[in-house]
Order: sequence, then C-alpha cells, then structure tokens
Amino acid sequence: MLFDYITHPSPTPEAERLAAIADPGFGKCFSDHMVVIDYDEAKGGWFSAALGPRKPIPLDPAASVLHYAQEIFEGMKAYKLDGGTMALFRPEENARRFNASARRMAMPELPEKLFLESIRKLVEQDKSWFPPVEGGSFYLRPFMFASEAFLGVRPAKQYKFVVIISPSGSYFKRGPAPVKIWVSQDYVRAAPGGTGAAKTGGNYAASLVPQAEAIEQGCDQVVFLDAVERKWIEELGGMNLFYVFDDGSVVTPPLTGTILPGITRDSLIQLIREEGLELREEPYSIDQWRADAESGKLLETMACGTAAVVTPVGTVASHDGEFTIGSGGPGQLTMKLREKLVAIQRGAMEDTHGWVMKLD
Ligand SMILES: *Cc1c(COP(=O)(O)O)cnc(C)c1O
Repeated sequence: MLFDYITHPSPTPEAERLAAIADPGFGKCFSDHMVVIDYDEAKGGWFSAALGPRKPIPLDPAASVLHYAQEIFEGMKAYKLDGGTMALFRPEENARRFNASARRMAMPELPEKLFLESIRKLVEQDKSWFPPVEGGSFYLRPFMFASEAFLGVRPAKQYKFVVIISPSGSYFKRGPAPVKIWVSQDYVRAAPGGTGAAKTGGNYAASLVPQAEAIEQGCDQVVFLDAVERKWIEELGGMNLFYVFDDGSVVTPPLTGTILPGITRDSLIQLIREEGLELREEPYSIDQWRADAESGKLLETMACGTAAVVTPVGTVASHDGEFTIGSGGPGQLTMKLREKLVAIQRGAMEDTHGWVMKLD
C-alpha cells in the first residue's frame, strides 16, 4: 500500500520540542506526526494510508467505538542504539498480537507488513523527537477502532488504524523501586471466555476502580485473581508476574485465555531457561504466595511489561493483611534479568535471539 505524505503546516518549533523531550515523563508528551490507515468493507478492506500531522480525528457521534467499545491497541518501544540507529524490540510479536486482539473483537486484521511499515515510517519521520535522556525511548501506540456511524449491535464495517508516538523518559527516576501491590478481592479483570487475552480498552476501563482502590490502600498497583475460584493469581493491571523460589525454580501463570500474553513475559521465559533455571508455567494461588513468602521459600516476585520492563514486587496487601517478599527490596534474579533485557533492547549486549529490529 502506498502512503500519502501530508506536510505538517506548523511543526513544533525546535526550542519547544527540545524543552518537551528534555523531561518527557511517561505518556504525556507526543511527537508531531501520526499514521492513519482506513478500512471500509465496501471498499474491499484497507484502502488509504497516510503519514501526516498529529491532530484530532473527526468522529461521528454514532461511531460504534463510542457505544460498543470495538477498540484494540498495542504498546511497544523504539530505542536508540549506541551509534544512533533506531531499533524496535520484537515488533513482529506486537503485529501478531494485534491481530489476535482484532479477531477476538470481531475487527479486521491488519497485514503484519503494513503494521510494521507504519511504525517504521513514523519513527523515521519523528526521530528528532527522541528524548536525549538516560533510559529514554519512544513509546509507540498503535490502535484501531470502529468508526462506522451505526447504532445496531454488530461488528462495524469501517475502522481506523492509527499510530502515535509518545517520547518517554525512564519509567523509574532512580532505578526500579519495589512496588506494593493490592490484591483485588471484590473485582476481577477477566473471566474464562471473556476478553482478558485481548489488548482491548474495555479491560482497562474495568480495572480503574480496583486500581483506585489500590491507591487508596497506599499501594502502587492492583493484582487480580481468577474470576471463578478467586484463588489463582493472574496478573497486574498491565504487567505479568513471575515467582522465584529458593530451589532455583521460577513459576509464571499459564496463558489460559484470561491473562494478556506479554512479550516481555515470553522474553523472560526464554532468558530464565537460558540461565539454566527451571521455568514452570503453572497456576499459583494467593494462599500459597503468602505461605511461601512467610516461610522464606519464595525469594522474589517480579512484574514485567513493555513500559516498566521488569519491576520487583516488595509487599502484597489485602483485606487480610500484608506480607513482604524476601527483604522487601529488589531481588537478585529480578535485577539480573532486568539488566540483561535492557542491555539487549538497547544494543549493549549481543542479540542472540534475533529480537532487535534495526530501523536504518
Ligand atoms: C500489555 C500488557 C501486558 C504486558 O505485555 P508486554 O507485551 O510485555 O508489554 C501485561 N498485562 C496486560 C494486562 C497488558 O495489557
């Protein structure tokens, strides 16, 4: 598909851009351009692609995304390697997962090549927005929504695929601080047969009340239990979990349809096995978590996702009280894996897995 290039009539002045990316924070600074690709069933599918100025998207008030939430997204990062080359981390996995989410939400799939091409073009266009700060990256947000004006409940016939860039600083200002997490006993994130494995907005809308409860309880994040038995630990609002034991084994919950299949999770599974450690994908219960933390059998718990990479879990709180993991500080394996993954992503360590896609 040919991309139209629409010249930006008034790009951000250089001084303003440099000020914005000097301390970009996370998710609040945006570059000048975006990619938009349109889909119309009547026109035979995806029919027009454009790279142009980032600006508001006109939307009919009856657009079905506003009523029935047909929406999916991805979260991925572009890095600058030593020497200045821009690179993506396992972007084919994001393209694949995007289409898995699309299928679950009765949305059209986007050819993986087109997904990757959109990202390449946008990163190239806006690379002067790359934050010149320690741990800086482009947080890329590809998303798709139903734009057809129609109030009946059925899959829409028109969609927009959009990519924007948020130049971002390090998720943690001073290295990864252990997080305190709140066990949600009143709310669940995903039920068997539901949409938990899809990156779709509704899952996050439903997580906001339990997340607010976590904050009220003095915690950073919420952890969800399974919807049926309210016993098995699933994941945080946007991060997968790993448990490290004193016998050298590591456990992460299996992907049974209620957990988001994280690309960081998949990468860590491979790195853990390469460390010679035993990695088991098996259910782990909240009661066992507390018992193992108290007996000392559990040494570490780590949370992982694109935004924060690998983060130690220090304390777990619920209506039944609190428990601490290890000494409450960052564990050894957590920090080792974090450093290794960051080094691979940023080109400081050899990419033996073919995970890094260089862009120029
Ligand atoms: C995106 C996401 C993750 C992490 O996925 P990564 O591919 O590692 O970024 C985990 N859980 C949820 C609910 C998510 O939305």
